[in-house]
Amino acid sequence: MPRKRGLPLKACIKCKMLVEPRIEVCPNCGSRIFSNEWTGLVIIMDVEKSLVAKKLNIKTPGMYALKVH
Ligand SMILES: [Zn+2]
Repeated sequence: MPRKRGLPLKACIKCKMLVEPRIEVCPNCGSRIFSNEWTGLVIIMDVEKSLVAKKLNIKTPGMYALKVH
């Protein structure tokens, strides 16, 4: 089931990690600022091998938005 935009997830504006709305502090970077306006979803499983992870400077496996508005 491909997950698309419109999911009830919010994106951390700092590291772009996608989390559930009930989460108040980003588990990745500790930021408390989130945006509901985001596009593109990338799931990073293997941070070491993922080029996307390198490009986005992602260090923790998880779901990320490609763009946060
Ligand atoms: Zn974050």
